[in-house]
Amino acid sequence: SSASTPIRATLFPGDGIGPEIAESVKQIFQAAEVPIEWEEHYVGTEIDPRTQSFLTWESLESVRRNRVGLKGPMATPIGKGHRSLNLTLRKELNLYANVRPCYSLPGYKTRYDNVDLITIRENTEGEYSGLEHQVVRGVVESLKIITRQASLRVAEYAFHYAKAHGRERVSAIHKANIMQKTDGLFLKCCREVAEKYPEIKYEEVVIDNCCMMLVKNPALFDVLVMPNLYGDIISDLCAGLIGGLGLTPSCNIGEGGIALAEAVHGSAPDIAGKNLANPTALLLSSVTMLRHLDLHDKADRIQNAILNTIAEGKYRTADLGGSSKTTEFTKAIIDQL
Ligand code: NAD
Repeated sequence: SSASTPIRATLFPGDGIGPEIAESVKQIFQAAEVPIEWEEHYVGTEIDPRTQSFLTWESLESVRRNRVGLKGPMATPIGKGHRSLNLTLRKELNLYANVRPCYSLPGYKTRYDNVDLITIRENTEGEYSGLEHQVVRGVVESLKIITRQASLRVAEYAFHYAKAHGRERVSAIHKANIMQKTDGLFLKCCREVAEKYPEIKYEEVVIDNCCMMLVKNPALFDVLVMPNLYGDIISDLCAGLIGGLGLTPSCNIGEGGIALAEAVHGSAPDIAGKNLANPTALLLSSVTMLRHLDLHDKADRIQNAILNTIAEGKYRTADLGGSSKTTEFTKAIIDQL
């Protein structure tokens, strides 16, 4: 209740470069005096029968209890009899929306200068429902599930996000001219929600046209909301506009306001343990977590320190063409604070 009571948040350092970049987040949060107390959970080495996964029940309970967390990349061990770690998290915590802010980093030149987009991906159904079967030899079928409930929920989140962040427009991305029933229902739900937000402009853009417009001029868009598969593809396209995997954050929103922030990239086994990883993506993910908690002062301070460090150009990791180690880059950010 008082300002000095720390907020408990779950931290999954994850695999590969995960622990190195998580360490960077912990040090920067400490330097910025962020009132967060981390509850660290590691991926187990055995399958927990309660989750059918290497993720323990206790670690899921930690996120459920704290309602907020940060997740490093997780490499799902290959083998039978267990569920993918990311799928387990998504299903068990009902992480229904994946939010990816994507903006040009000042001083880091790419083909585009003024990217400032938010993609919001439906995270629980669509083509990723996992309902595939063989009808007869040589013919398979995959079910694309779209429900009114999940579509309304993600549309509601998109408009709420737009309003809360002073955004002007929400574009629903679809292929309803072909997928008349499924994408048609998705659009119908978006339209219903749009009516409740007259101050936010609403438009519908066919996905192929959306791709063309994005690479031609990303400034044509503001907030984009879309079904699962389109969101998977479009958000990677957007990441490519601003410089790649080392930079792009995301946040998963779950039932009851759970927020689990995570970098978009994987465990980068090729550079793991070498102090070479760029912690920016996980750091900016942690910033989205702070914004979710309305800790905007801390979020601004950390975000500015990261952006200033990259803009200055003296300390950059190898993926951005520099020669700094993870720890040197982290220290440079702390000095900026
Ligand atoms: P990856 O993202 O780990 O690596 C792709 C390339 O990008 C590599 O060359 C890597 O060195 C580089 N890279 C990634 N993040 C970087 C960073 N922060 N700084 C500098 N360079 C970076 O993708 P992959 O190799 O396909 O996957 C490796 C493992 O990660 C797999 O086990 C995969 O299942 C897992 N994975 C997990 C998640 C997740 O937890 N959300 C996402 C994607 C992949």
